[in-house]
Amino acid sequence: MKSSKRILSGIQPSGDLHLGNYLGAIKNFVSLQHEYECFFCVVDLHAITVWQDPQKLAQKTREVIAAFIASGIDSKKNILFSQSQVPQHTQLAWIFSCVARMGWLNRMTQFKDKAGKDRENVSVGLFSYPTLMAADILIYLATHVPVGEDQKQHLEFTRDIAQKFNNDFKTNLFPLTEPLIFGEGTRVMSLRDGTKKMSKSDISEYSRIMLSDSPDQIVQKIKKAKTDPLPLPADKKEASKRPEAFNLLSIFAALNDISINDAIKQNAGQDFSTFKKNLTDLVVEKIEPIGKKIKKLMGDQSFLDSVMNTGKDKAIVEADSVLTKVYDVIGLKKL
Ligand code: ATP
Ligand code: MG
Repeated sequence: MKSSKRILSGIQPSGDLHLGNYLGAIKNFVSLQHEYECFFCVVDLHAITVWQDPQKLAQKTREVIAAFIASGIDSKKNILFSQSQVPQHTQLAWIFSCVARMGWLNRMTQFKDKAGKDRENVSVGLFSYPTLMAADILIYLATHVPVGEDQKQHLEFTRDIAQKFNNDFKTNLFPLTEPLIFGEGTRVMSLRDGTKKMSKSDISEYSRIMLSDSPDQIVQKIKKAKTDPLPLPADKKEASKRPEAFNLLSIFAALNDISINDAIKQNAGQDFSTFKKNLTDLVVEKIEPIGKKIKKLMGDQSFLDSVMNTGKDKAIVEADSVLTKVYDVIGLKKL
């Protein structure tokens, strides 16, 4: 099956999924699934660029599949699978690590953020992560990738690889893939620090609302969320100077499917305690049902495994046909 509009996107099984993953990625997957041919994968090989407990990895992988389905992704129409089960991703990643330049990787901000001051001690995989991500996308000749704002630079890197490969080997095999970054939740920030991205890997659980949180946990986390002493901002200009207020208003906007301007208008001048109560009700209303569905699906592991198995078989057919073309173009013999 060939489609001119094809999506690939992935989520790491690196921890519990949070509101940022939902608003920046999964919610958009749901809205795009009927317009595009979609490959949604659990990128377990990306997750192991930092330590993962082997006893928990398979379960975390199933949890991401469960979250896709619980959020409204149709497991029959779309291809859902785990990255490590399709070996063509890593085969293409090696080839791309021979195409990408060190200078390109040295500029990647995700690596700088994740490695911090410990650069010499992090894994080589964390550094070359974007070459595997480019392979995940281009092994399916995906034309579009819905992601959060933090992945924009990796998408530019993917385009650079596609372009250099096409130029070097005088082919037009790879598309110049476009990111799809839309909605008001493209960069949900930590509830503890409005200048830091909400992440699975943040050590503080109070920094993020998880899809699996109970209403009580949501109440506590929003209550403790950092704010400033002023009433809610009157306009966007004022809001953008107040990161914590802006973040909570963006979450309010994204969950209500309204613009940030309308969210600011609706709440202007309110005190934070009233706004936090309204926001809590909204988060509970939208997130609790997803959490419950995830839990229920996790009780049926054979169903989740069968979804991944079917997905893997379909993905392998597509990936292998592209890898054959790549080998051919490069002059490698694929027996
Ligand atoms: P980790 O901290 O392990 O990198 P993560 O929370 O960043 O985990 P990923 O699996 O790396 O999650 O990302 C999955 C998808 O969620 C990507 O499309 C990414 O852009 C998006 N995403 C992650 N965090 C946020 C966020 N805070 N706001 C919006 N989108 C996000
Ligand atoms: Mg991430």
